[in-house]
Amino acid sequence: MLKIVKDTAKSLHSRCAPVEDPRSPEIKATLDEMTKYLKDSQDPAFREKNPSVREGVGLAAPQVGINKRMLVIYYPSVSEEGKFVEYQLVNPLIVSQSIRQCYLASGEGCLSVDQEHPGYAYRAYKITVKAYDAHSGQDIEIRAFGFDAIVLQHEIDHLNGILFYDRIDKRNPFKEIPDAVAI
Ligand SMILES: [Zn+2]
Repeated sequence: MLKIVKDTAKSLHSRCAPVEDPRSPEIKATLDEMTKYLKDSQDPAFREKNPSVREGVGLAAPQVGINKRMLVIYYPSVSEEGKFVEYQLVNPLIVSQSIRQCYLASGEGCLSVDQEHPGYAYRAYKITVKAYDAHSGQDIEIRAFGFDAIVLQHEIDHLNGILFYDRIDKRNPFKEIPDAVAI
């Protein structure tokens, strides 16, 4: 099983290098292993047998000790019942984002962060991301908003060495921003 790197490691606060060969079988194999970790983490029986595993919806390569620009996302769709949001993104780039902000009202969590960091991590409400998606084997453009946009931004942040608590205002963690959407 993959071992999760915790935020005490310097690598989680550093920028990752681009993936030079996004379509290589080695990259696909690593991404599949990362996706499997997420799927297992969402299975209560698996978690019971492996108490150190926490439930996750996204995982970035630096969190498993690979300091390259790639990430996986897997969770049941909020808007379409029975569907899953599933990506294996290589060298993702946010090409546009809304001025309007949003935040998870319950606060964000991270498989690499064990301590509590109460507060709001503000992010763009809508984003467009371009990437190679190894799951579909295509270059894709994703338009996402709300929860889906938060997950994408959280994972892409990892590739730049940014953790969710870096986005919480230290002096006023529950600061209200006008017009921001609570998710
Ligand atoms: Zn995280």
